[in-house]
Amino acid sequence: MSDLIKLSAAALGEKIASGEVSAEEVTRAHLDRIAEVDGRVHAFLHVDTEGAVEAARAVDAKRAAGEKLGPLAGVPIAIKDVIATKGVPSTAASKILEGWRPPYDATVMTRIREAGMVMLGKTNMDEFAMGSSTEYSAYGPTYNPWDLTRIPGGSGGGSAASLAAYEAPLAIGTDTGGSIRQPGAVTGTVGAKPTYGGTSRYGLIAFSSSLDTPGPCARTVLDAALLHEVIAGHDPRDSTSIPMPVPDVVAAARQGASGDLTGVRVGLVKEFSGEGAEPGVMAVFRDTVEALTKLGAEVVEVSCPHFQYALPAYYLIAPSECSSNLARFDGVRFGLRTGDDGRNSLEEVMSLTREAGFGDEVKRRIIIGTYALSSGYYDAYYGQAQKVRTLITRDFTQAFEQVDVLVSPTTPFTAFELGARTADPYQMYLADLYTIPTNLYGGPGISVPAGLSDGLPVGLQVMAPTMADDRMYRIAAAVESTVGTFTPPAL
Ligand code: GLN
Repeated sequence: MSDLIKLSAAALGEKIASGEVSAEEVTRAHLDRIAEVDGRVHAFLHVDTEGAVEAARAVDAKRAAGEKLGPLAGVPIAIKDVIATKGVPSTAASKILEGWRPPYDATVMTRIREAGMVMLGKTNMDEFAMGSSTEYSAYGPTYNPWDLTRIPGGSGGGSAASLAAYEAPLAIGTDTGGSIRQPGAVTGTVGAKPTYGGTSRYGLIAFSSSLDTPGPCARTVLDAALLHEVIAGHDPRDSTSIPMPVPDVVAAARQGASGDLTGVRVGLVKEFSGEGAEPGVMAVFRDTVEALTKLGAEVVEVSCPHFQYALPAYYLIAPSECSSNLARFDGVRFGLRTGDDGRNSLEEVMSLTREAGFGDEVKRRIIIGTYALSSGYYDAYYGQAQKVRTLITRDFTQAFEQVDVLVSPTTPFTAFELGARTADPYQMYLADLYTIPTNLYGGPGISVPAGLSDGLPVGLQVMAPTMADDRMYRIAAAVESTVGTFTPPAL
């Protein structure tokens, strides 16, 4: 095993820029690692060996020609399969998109390529990003590198597992209700959900358009910030993209690493005081809050009375938007077509295709969403949920008048055994209890490793006001500087 795979993205970038190692060597070390362990981890749905080597060689050629390289040039990255990548299979882990090769790149992908980064391949996920364990992938689950009998979180379990297994130093995830932060927490890695609109949704296979947010996954806070800087910023191709400068997240991560939080006001959400959470998770959380106090932060409790309604509101809004977004998968435009034998009508072909192409969880959401949006029920369900969303936003706004950031455990429980929660959708939905409010509000949230409970990673979530992404990086880096990073047992 090459030592290169253990380095941070920041260190790899420096070594490549200085010529100490070539981008090709770094890429091949990661491809070798994937070949060695991915049979057991299954983080990847598709590995683009040729494309990766070619991209790495292009970086090496630029350097040889005397061009100055950016901080992440030549650094490999794994991309969640929900992101459209030109000419490379993009299935969102669904049978309905099997074999689809997009004719264009998502904006985040364009920016990754422009930064000279090297895409290793596409990572596994819950189908259409609906789930919390990656067990709803149509192509089989991903296994948590900390314990291969356990889930790596979801929906972005493949991206998080690829980091924990040292198959990639960086990855892209998308967070609609927690799918970057929750997998980060249960794999001992860092996952950041930027402010909604801070990163472009163009080329992201849509789940719930008012919530979907692409963001960085990494093993260190600084690495996440470096990737954040690459992918964030206004995009005229996304009408909800924010036309404002990107907060200086890299400087904030460096500042936080100094470990001084004097004058920072940290809020604990009263309503997240631990009901339903594992005692081991709450113990790590209390220790981390204690550590923040030692770094000089002032910790106070704040009340967010409507957070308790976040989960039900989310499970009306997200399915409603998904029922509309997924209407495009009709057997005509993309991927799978079933029953087109000349005897079935167009409508029958659409219905047979959707029956065969969508998994149970996706069907469940389409049915709930269609019901919630139908006339006569719209006001009672979707309309009510939108009102709750407003109240949750108000809770955040009022909290941020008192404190700079809010903190909570990222998840109520550590990585559970495969199969433990698939029989009861509600048990699966509970994984996002602490992450969903942030999505409904639109602010940024990050999960940073905080400790271990029974040998399994626990994450701390830091939530900040919209467009104050830098604040959460500062606090997360301070946490990292005192609690350190966590290395899984060798695979
Ligand atoms: N687990 C949540 C869901 O199933 C969130 C998913 C996500 O963030 N993509 O909807």
